[in-house]
Amino acid sequence: MEKYDCLILGAGAAGLFCAARTAARGRRTLVIDHSAKPAEKVRISGGGRCNFTNLNTRAETFLSDNPHFAKSALARYQPEDFCALMQAHGLSWTEKTLGQLFCDQKSGAIIEMLLKEVAASGASLRLNTPVSDVRHTVDGFVVSTPDGPLQAESLVVATGGLSIPKMGATGLAYDVARQFGHEVVPVRPALVPFVFDGETKADFATLAGVSLPVRARAGNGPSFDEALLFTHRGLSGPAILQASSYWAEGEALTLNLLAEPLGRPTFMQQRQDTPSRPLQKALGHLFPARLAPLLTRFISGAVQRPLQQISERDLRALDEALSQWALHPSGTEGWRTAEVTAGGVATNGLSSRTLASHHVKGLFFIGECVDVTGWLGGYNFQWAWASAAAAAEVA
Ligand SMILES: Cc1cc2nc3c(=O)[nH]c(=O)nc-3n(C[C@H](O)[C@H](O)[C@H](O)COP(=O)(O)OP(=O)(O)OC[C@H]3O[C@@H](n4cnc5c(N)ncnc54)[C@H](O)[C@@H]3O)c2cc1C
Repeated sequence: MEKYDCLILGAGAAGLFCAARTAARGRRTLVIDHSAKPAEKVRISGGGRCNFTNLNTRAETFLSDNPHFAKSALARYQPEDFCALMQAHGLSWTEKTLGQLFCDQKSGAIIEMLLKEVAASGASLRLNTPVSDVRHTVDGFVVSTPDGPLQAESLVVATGGLSIPKMGATGLAYDVARQFGHEVVPVRPALVPFVFDGETKADFATLAGVSLPVRARAGNGPSFDEALLFTHRGLSGPAILQASSYWAEGEALTLNLLAEPLGRPTFMQQRQDTPSRPLQKALGHLFPARLAPLLTRFISGAVQRPLQQISERDLRALDEALSQWALHPSGTEGWRTAEVTAGGVATNGLSSRTLASHHVKGLFFIGECVDVTGWLGGYNFQWAWASAAAAAEVA
């Protein structure tokens, strides 16, 4: 039987990064993956430029049943640490909006960097290797593969979540977790567009391609001031993807089109500033031309009237309607397009310092399979790097 000190399941962002660091400690390390290519999600990330971290990373930018869990790992491996690694490999980056760092080179350059790190550390990588069974024996873990069993003292599970099944996503991590007595927080697609049915779907379809800054909020989640994009099936864009992570079926998605930071004056304000401007023109002035007609539904009476001829009561009602536009999605686009999986291996069974299992010595869960889900904007990769680094200290 082939024997290793550390066997890592999943050659994605977290698995490759962890492999390089465990092997650098002198641990005989093998990372296996059932796919033909490693880290394919890195390749497609950030529109091909991998938004690899976020300078504003803090525990509050993650969802988890335990909001404190991610703190330790995130504090010990920070965005600057990954930037230093990139720099050492001659890679550069650009800060886009909101602290998001994108690679100046193509995403593939980050995969190459990870593979170089793996090779330099002496760790081995084996692709096209599905896992059929995981057992724990007195000699450690035994993982069955078509090429025979692999034995290791430490087993790191880094097989990610369920999003984008056509790229090889599976629920292996959750199966292994349950097998060894771990709870799994119910999983759901996150950072995912909303879909609508009926009249709303038809309305939005006519606006497909229209984008505008909004404040979006779902459920009890925080508000996000970013862009919304109308699609043929519903709503997408950063503000919507962010809100979707907090949405539960049946809940409303609330849009505020007049939130202060968006810089759009209320119609009451406009009545004072530009009293002779017709309401229709005022709407067209603030919103994309294709959207304005839909918004006129929020006011009764002729929209050609100058603002001064519309009662304060009606304009207040319009301001309120545009500040609290409650929509009821029929669902989300689901795993097919979700950028991440919310929920996952429950943090109550893991050490926040090392990501080690409290139930079985030598077992670790890292990356997206853990119930730690980042906002849009590089936070999920930062969790992949930080959780991998934490586990690699001891695995
Ligand atoms: C379209 C898209 C764009 C994204 N853009 C960004 C971005 O710009 N910034 C950001 O921070 N995050 C982004 N994300 C999220 C980010 O890609 C993930 O959070 C991150 O890749 C998780 O890393 P991971 O190593 O935990 O899992 P993964 O990267 O998913 O790796 C898991 C690995 O395990 C393998 N595997 C799965 N099941 C098995 C099995 N049964 N047997 C063997 N191997 C298995 C898979 O083949 C895969 O290689 C994006 C996601 C998507 C889908």
